[in-house]
Amino acid sequence: MPYRTSSYSGSSYSRARRRKKIIKTLLLCFLAAFIVFGIVAMIIIFTAPPKGIENKGTTPDTPALTDPIETEPHVEGFETVEVDLSQLHRGDLILVNGEHEYKNADGYKLLDLYNNRKKYSGGARAYQLSGIDLKLADFVLSELNAMNEAFYEESGLGGLLIRSAYRTRQEQKDLYDARVEKDGAVKAEKYVAKPGHSEHETGLAFDMSVFVDGENTYISDEPEYLPIYSMAYKYGFVLRYPADKVDITGINYEAWHFRYVGLPHAYYMSANDLCLEEYIELLREDYKYSDEHLKVSAPDRDGKAQNYEIYFVPADTNKGKNQIIVPCGYEYSISGNNVDGFIITVDLDAPKK
Ligand SMILES: [Zn+2]
Repeated sequence: MPYRTSSYSGSSYSRARRRKKIIKTLLLCFLAAFIVFGIVAMIIIFTAPPKGIENKGTTPDTPALTDPIETEPHVEGFETVEVDLSQLHRGDLILVNGEHEYKNADGYKLLDLYNNRKKYSGGARAYQLSGIDLKLADFVLSELNAMNEAFYEESGLGGLLIRSAYRTRQEQKDLYDARVEKDGAVKAEKYVAKPGHSEHETGLAFDMSVFVDGENTYISDEPEYLPIYSMAYKYGFVLRYPADKVDITGINYEAWHFRYVGLPHAYYMSANDLCLEEYIELLREDYKYSDEHLKVSAPDRDGKAQNYEIYFVPADTNKGKNQIIVPCGYEYSISGNNVDGFIITVDLDAPKK
């Protein structure tokens, strides 16, 4: 019995202890759950978004946070290059006129026309020369050769004459002084630019007329020769002083003075009836790097469309070196405008390998 009692009481004692233990464990679990719940509640309270913007991420018209936000156009495809400020006065698009002096100290590589114009198998030449000392920038001469050769092949006419091309500043001064002596300064400046202000000093411009039967005439007076005007842009040339732009250029109509600016620019200026002063202004005002860029698709000499993107970057004239934004993936050229900035012409048909 004692054993039983003991056994019983022993068993009853142990059951009571087990019950106590279970209650204690339950209480501990309850307490732990309560603490965990409290911590979670605190985390939720402290990390909840402020009222008003909660749920915003789930509304359908709000972009997800992972979407890139564009702050600058094409920024991923561009990088900066350092350009010397002297480049402001160099390039296809330099504006040289009564207001803006030519300051390209290095000049361009010049070639003489006499030795570098094309001769044909029959002995004929695509164009004639007023003298043996005419010179042009090498890249301008190659385009002039190509243009006049194409004109000769299409028309069979060999009367085009290059009357004047590159001039030194002294030669320009002599011309100007002679004209001033003849007509007075006011009238002279409408026909002959002051020394330092003539496009002829750049090597990018030439005067072309027609020479037939011993007579020198204007292209504009020779109907058979008129097509040269409409094909000029394909070789990068513009008639620089049109009759309807005298107020802007400050120079009277010159049916003979051609200036090289390059294909996309010549095409755009011709198609939109803009002289160089107007075109430079347009790029500066409407086509800065940070704005929209000008897209030009210009048909070349073979009728094939050539695609370009053009934009303007203002110069910092207080700095000897300027940072210019250029594309990483395409060939491009930088031209100063000779006034206040750089024009970048991107060749969209020439991706970099
Ligand atoms: Zn001229």
